Amino acid sequence: MTVWLIVFIILLLIGAAWIAIAITKSSNSVRRRSNVIHLSQRRSSSIDSNIIAPGNQKCSRCNQVKKLIFYSNDGGHVAGLCKECRKDIGDKQELYPI
Ligand SMILES: [Zn+2]
Repeated sequence: MTVWLIVFIILLLIGAAWIAIAITKSSNSVRRRSNVIHLSQRRSSSIDSNIIAPGNQKCSRCNQVKKLIFYSNDGGHVAGLCKECRKDIGDKQELYPI
C-alpha cells in the first residue's frame, strides 16, 4: 500500500515539474519575442535618425563635411565615412555598419 502511495507522489511531482517547465518555456518564448520586436524597432528608429539628421560631420578619411555612415572594423574602431570613401575602401577592409 505504501509503495503505491510513493509511486503516486512521484508521478504527482513529475507532473508538477512538467507543468512548471511548460509554463517557464512559454513565458520565455513570449519574452524573447517581445525583445526581438523591441530591438528591431530600435534599429529602424536609429536608421531613421541617421537619414533625417540635418548636421553633417567630418569624414574620418577625407576630412570633408559630408553626410556620414558610421562603420566599425574588426578591432572595434568606429569611423564615420562618406559614400566616396566607403567606395574607395570597398572590400579592402571589413566594415560593419552601425
Ligand atoms: Zn570621405
